Amino acid sequence: MEYRKNDIVTLKIEDCGIDGEGIGKADGFTVFVKDAVIGDTVRAKIMKAKKNYGYGRLEEIITPSPDRVEPKCQFARQCGGCQLQALSYEKQLEFKTSKVRGHLERIGGFTDIPMEKILGMDQPFHYRNKAQFPVGKSKDGRIITGFYAGRTHSIIENRDCALGVTRNKEVLDRVIAHMEKFHIQPYDENTGKGLVRHVLIRYGFFTDEMMVCLIINGEKLPGEEALVKSLRQIPEAVSVMVNVNKKRNNVILGEKVRLLWGQPYITDKIGEISYQISPLSFFQVNPYQTGRLYGKALEYAQLSGNETVWDLYCGIGTISLFLAQKAKMVRGVEIIPAAIENAKENACLNGFDNTEFFVGKAEEVLPEQFARTGERADVIVVDPPRKGCDETLLSTIIEMQPDRVVYVSCDSATLARDLKYLCERGYELKKVCPVDMFPNTVSVETVVLLSHKKPDGHINVKVEFGEGEGKVPLDNIAKRAEEYKPKERVTYKMIKEYIEAKYGFKVHTAYIAEVKRDLGLPMYDALNAVEELKKPRKHPTAEKVEAIKDALKHFEVI
Ligand code: SAH
Repeated sequence: MEYRKNDIVTLKIEDCGIDGEGIGKADGFTVFVKDAVIGDTVRAKIMKAKKNYGYGRLEEIITPSPDRVEPKCQFARQCGGCQLQALSYEKQLEFKTSKVRGHLERIGGFTDIPMEKILGMDQPFHYRNKAQFPVGKSKDGRIITGFYAGRTHSIIENRDCALGVTRNKEVLDRVIAHMEKFHIQPYDENTGKGLVRHVLIRYGFFTDEMMVCLIINGEKLPGEEALVKSLRQIPEAVSVMVNVNKKRNNVILGEKVRLLWGQPYITDKIGEISYQISPLSFFQVNPYQTGRLYGKALEYAQLSGNETVWDLYCGIGTISLFLAQKAKMVRGVEIIPAAIENAKENACLNGFDNTEFFVGKAEEVLPEQFARTGERADVIVVDPPRKGCDETLLSTIIEMQPDRVVYVSCDSATLARDLKYLCERGYELKKVCPVDMFPNTVSVETVVLLSHKKPDGHINVKVEFGEGEGKVPLDNIAKRAEEYKPKERVTYKMIKEYIEAKYGFKVHTAYIAEVKRDLGLPMYDALNAVEELKKPRKHPTAEKVEAIKDALKHFEVI
């Protein structure tokens, strides 16, 4: 039967869509009903109708599902933050597992998926270490804060979100009181006028350090000192900042930050590793589960201490440092320069000297580095944004043939697409573990282990040795083998030692770098040397240039 807009239907919800909506059938007509959960029998009003399906609004729950629970937050239905609060946590975990499985089967074409049990939380509330509250005005002109209603920018007033830390409320109370006292206007998206746009709060779960950052449409905030005085009364506060965003767009944070009091960052720990987090840094929002997610990635990487690992899309180096605890060398790549600065600082803070970080696109840096060094990787970890990996990157991974690929994904649809590509080209799906980083929402994170089917791929060629046509003379074999032997990597140290032994003088790294550069040779292998080149210094004498060229010839670099 066909239904039209405004028709009322009664149906039993039998499935759950990827956005958490209930799905049921009325006389063969499929209806998607937001806020209905599997097992409910509901009455819904058709709001939009297509030929065989439509979207309905929940009018009444006739018989509630046995898996329905009372949402902890009274705004759960209107607010855009949570989609699954009305479903028991156990069922939420089932939903997420089957979402991942469904994508791997339908998009990836996989069968017999080696699925591990989803890692869920014991307490699926108050897990977020970061909250960004928009500030606005109610219809009657009061200053309000809360969250955007689903798909709109109207603010649902709520200072006590069930996903955030309980301390947020006190911060918001103090900020709003300050705005009222100093007659500070909230920003109005429609007119572009008003000052305070958002309140960003970050909380270190393992250090109890808190940062409050006001995002303002201007340079200064009236009564800055008074605000600091008020916020300092919160025992966990260590940092009060403002972020300037005068742009008329939806992006929350601007580029400029200014410290009002305390330190410009908070520190938090994941496992044994400490991270400094500033207002602009990307940091996973669920610290308890992040430790488990990274732990799973580390487990899948199977490191013994001798491995060379790439961590692509590394952000502030969070996974990189986790891996660096057990690997010989970890190289991270990330597109945002400031994040790479943080990654380097975090490596230093934790005393790692086996990491190296590159700014750039993963799909450009990895092929470039591989072409230059020819160095293979034992393990490649990727943690891309929702759109997944670029195909150029996947084809480089195929070329490099690491023994294992660990894929950390926040979107199982693009994950399935990328896994299909890799598994059609020599990799095997070994393990899949969903991790619930965002309880009560429809998001699910997944960690996947792929291993190369034949780590040392070989082809069989039949040859006959001896004398005569079509046969390979025996004495040629050793010579041929020598030609194919991979060349030893020539280091600056080897060149220096050679020159000192043969000529009796020392040459500076910068001189070697300069000669290499003049000869058009790649400079990748000594970042310090490249840095040295930028400094003003004398040029090497003709004698030293000759010695360096001789050494390069000796090692067959030229
Ligand atoms: N692994 C990190 C960050 C993951 S989020 C963590 O767990 O904290 C994905 C990251 O990929 C973001 O930091 C984003 O800036 C970065 N990114 C997006 N596109 C990229 C690309 N093409 N190459 C490299 N990094 C990219």
